[in-house]
Amino acid sequence: MASRTTIEIYTRQRTLLHPLQGARLAICAQCHADVLMISLAYAASILQVSAGAIGDLVAGGTLHEFTTNTAATLICCNSLFALLNPSAPETQIPNL
Ligand SMILES: [Zn+2]
Repeated sequence: MASRTTIEIYTRQRTLLHPLQGARLAICAQCHADVLMISLAYAASILQVSAGAIGDLVAGGTLHEFTTNTAATLICCNSLFALLNPSAPETQIPNL
């Protein structure tokens, strides 16, 4: 007589959420939509590149930038996610 063994595996996953400090919604001139904008430093940390490399990506049109009325530069998350996932169809982050 064959016996049946059931193995149950329980796992846990820790998810860390970081507040997007300085993030805000703004109209991206290239996307023509309200888009979540994040700081240049945060975009650089996501891409694991220097702030100078972010400037090169903006100059090349790969990333979109937005300048606030306090002269802070923010990066469009639509263009950031398009860079991170180039095979995905055009993605727009829903309004928060
Ligand atoms: Zn954009």
